[in-house]
Amino acid sequence: MSVFESFGLRKVINASGKMTALGASAVSDEVAEAIKQASQDYVDIDEMMKYAGQVIAEYTGAEDGCPTCGAAAGIAITVASVITGNNLTLIERMPDSEGLKNEIIIQKGQQVHFGATIGQMIRVGGGKVVEVGSANKVEADHIEEAITDKTAALFYVKSHHAVQKGMQPIKTMMEIAKNHNIPFIIDAAAEEDFQKYIKMGADIVIYSGGKALEGPTSGFICGKKEWMEVCRKQYKGIGRPMKIGKEGVAGLITALKQYPFKEDNAEEQIERMTKLCQALEEVKGLKCTIKQDEAGRAIYRAQIEVDADLAGATAEQLLHRLETGNPAIYLRHHYVNIGILAVDPRPLLKGQEEIIASTIKSILKEEQLT
Ligand SMILES: *Cc1c(COP(=O)(O)O)cnc(C)c1O
Repeated sequence: MSVFESFGLRKVINASGKMTALGASAVSDEVAEAIKQASQDYVDIDEMMKYAGQVIAEYTGAEDGCPTCGAAAGIAITVASVITGNNLTLIERMPDSEGLKNEIIIQKGQQVHFGATIGQMIRVGGGKVVEVGSANKVEADHIEEAITDKTAALFYVKSHHAVQKGMQPIKTMMEIAKNHNIPFIIDAAAEEDFQKYIKMGADIVIYSGGKALEGPTSGFICGKKEWMEVCRKQYKGIGRPMKIGKEGVAGLITALKQYPFKEDNAEEQIERMTKLCQALEEVKGLKCTIKQDEAGRAIYRAQIEVDADLAGATAEQLLHRLETGNPAIYLRHHYVNIGILAVDPRPLLKGQEEIIASTIKSILKEEQLT
């Protein structure tokens, strides 16, 4: 019996993706073992945080790094750092940043909700959010003209949550930051490339440890050494209520070390999703096909189109039945309004595609009888 079942919680089959609401990632045995061992022992935390910074540097190409309990904490800690610098009194004063350089400039279409809002995470770190442009249109002039002697940083959100059209690209925003000698921060929480933005020249980049990295609930910041030292020092201030423990850091470090060796399992994904589609072939009203990720990543999902008249249920109804069952099955539902559901093979544990197929079949069989 799983630990969750022993608590009386429903078993969850996650075919949806790396969702905080479903517990983000399931870690590898090596990562789990590191977490277990770390949690049963002691370590000098300062020493460990510095070592973690070196490992983050090695795998990102940055000068140094700072572990966090998530990317959201990374935002707050980063923002506090660009406001306080290496001044303990100011570090202890956050989030009260009155009278300090505290304005954080962000493009309006990137002030998004990822489960909570980017703007609030900035405010937690003592930042004053300065949104520029409109939700679907930002010009370079908007960014340039928002800069004042109170500007602490320019903040870019690289995310599928953000508006993808009409925003100024990283390069433009970064050039403006450099021309004004202002730090340039990128929130790349869910991105898979841990080197790209540092290579491009960003001062500070923020990642989640529980998304592409498939580590434990954690995150990290990477970038210029001077800033990373200040970020780690925030654990004497604003960082304290969001501290990451030794077990989280141990898991994060282990996940980072494994990441470059993780093979691309496209073939296995296609094989599993083909099996799922075959199992659904004879079900009336369903059309199942394999679709590569819209953003071109090596993710091959099974896309299930529901013809409500033939299937006896709409995609919404099917989704609802799956989510409220036991086990609870969560599919991707970005296009449920047009009758499309998708199965993401990455978070699926062994054999779960078979459970999904048989559950869908039995739900629709019931619906078609009634
Ligand atoms: C998920 C996400 C976050 C928060 O990451 P956590 O690791 O869950 O704290 C922040 N920003 C963006 C753009 C995200 O997608």
